[in-house]
Amino acid sequence: MKIQNFHKASSLADAYERLERSSDAAIIGGGAWMKFSSRTLEEAIDLSGLGLDAIDERDGVVAIGSMTPLRDIETSDVLKRIFNGILPHAAAQIVGVGLRNIATIGGSVVGKYGFSDLLGPLLCMDARLEFFKEGEVSLAEFLERKGRTDDILVSVNIPSKAGCGYFKKVRKTALDFAVLNITITKTDGQTRIALGSRPARAVLAMDAMAVLNGSVDNDETTIEKAAEKAAEAVRFGDNHRASEAYRKHLAYVYVRRGLFMLEEGRT
Ligand SMILES: Cc1cc2nc3c(=O)[nH]c(=O)nc-3n(C[C@H](O)[C@H](O)[C@H](O)COP(=O)(O)OP(=O)(O)OC[C@H]3O[C@@H](n4cnc5c(N)ncnc54)[C@H](O)[C@@H]3O)c2cc1C
Repeated sequence: MKIQNFHKASSLADAYERLERSSDAAIIGGGAWMKFSSRTLEEAIDLSGLGLDAIDERDGVVAIGSMTPLRDIETSDVLKRIFNGILPHAAAQIVGVGLRNIATIGGSVVGKYGFSDLLGPLLCMDARLEFFKEGEVSLAEFLERKGRTDDILVSVNIPSKAGCGYFKKVRKTALDFAVLNITITKTDGQTRIALGSRPARAVLAMDAMAVLNGSVDNDETTIEKAAEKAAEAVRFGDNHRASEAYRKHLAYVYVRRGLFMLEEGRT
């Protein structure tokens, strides 16, 4: 990536005004992924002076500022308390501390990367995104939108509900992208399942969720049926890391295992 002008924003309004001015301007998060791009940016807009790197809990919501580095997510006591700490647990498995000190939650969400290990946990925790211009939108809706956003992500907001969670990243080597990642949460009697790095981006396994949430009891038969649905109804693909068939099999195995672990309180 080539940057012609670097602008340190003095406010969100200033950043937005610069962003609107040119289609070749972009917000820069940690810049860790952007630097691989061959794009020439007329202007890179830096939000690092705006205090958007805090994790705050208020009124039943944990708000993670968009410039929060993944390392702060990994070590956050507030985030470790909700849903068995699946978000810190997932963040901790992304490359090494050096990268996690640079890469931000904002860049991870707005990038909508297929390989992302954070989108699944965020989907399962029903995260909402606070944009400067648009206001709040659910992550699920944002991920369905096509194309690049021309707004500024201010924070990622998670309801701080009492719930339990399970996260598994299946990978060939410690520093690699996932072959598949599997997230499950349960709160207020409702179970959510997300499958990511399929290799396409994370989605909720709606049919499997319907099996669980439509049943009185998550007994062995229901769990078995839900795991089969997750493998059957979610679309998987081939790439150099794994075949579609292998990913399907992994989905069945880990959804089943995760559900049993949640039911037995073993996460
Ligand atoms: C070598 C390497 C290996 C990686 N491995 C993994 C992995 O195994 N699992 C995983 O989940 N992730 C992985 N990642 C991705 C990483 O976790 C981050 O998601 C990625 O670096 C993007 O975060 P960033 O802060 O660097 O964003 P940037 O590169 O700065 O930005 C990414 C995109 O988001 C936009 N953007 C950033 N912030 C905002 C904002 N506030 N508002 C609007 N737009 C914004 C930028 O304009 C750009 O389009 C890897 C990254 C690298 C470099």
